[in-house]
Amino acid sequence: MRRLVLKNLLNRPVTERAPAAGDAGLAELAEALDRAARRKLGRSLAIREVDAGSCNGCELEIHALNNAIYDVERFGLRFAASPRHADALLVTGPVTHNMKVALERTYAATPDPKWVIAVGDCAAGCGVFEGSYAIVGAVEKVVPVDLHIRGCPPRPIDLLRGLIALIDKATGPVASK
Ligand code: SF4
Repeated sequence: MRRLVLKNLLNRPVTERAPAAGDAGLAELAEALDRAARRKLGRSLAIREVDAGSCNGCELEIHALNNAIYDVERFGLRFAASPRHADALLVTGPVTHNMKVALERTYAATPDPKWVIAVGDCAAGCGVFEGSYAIVGAVEKVVPVDLHIRGCPPRPIDLLRGLIALIDKATGPVASK
């Protein structure tokens, strides 16, 4: 037992390295997004994520926005458990026949003004699933899309850039601090 305690005290924990100094750009992006959302909505941005048929690769990148490295919640960006509390829908994957009605209902349940962001190559144009018997098509075939964020999958920083571009489009460019 004593040996185990000593070993645990002496060994460093196995964990991810802290972000490099160059990732300061991420903080700047997240702050810009929060400012833009507050100007347009009077509060921070709430997002509802909808997996309409993805391989889950895009979800891993979206989830990374909340991990200990990106931690975008500190800038006010938060994920809502219900579309009724959301300003924007992040939709991934091509829309499958099984998810079509669920996506339509989620869109209908999201209050105006609302934005739909198609995340990933599959959401934009079916990607690797093109031609599959199981899909209806790209997201814009089912609900109106305001922005496409391409990539397979797009990186968290691309997601932030896309969200800022979307709010900029709706409200005009974000003024710097
Ligand atoms: S874009 Fe790539 S990662 Fe995203 S759902 Fe399609 S195959 Fe998966």
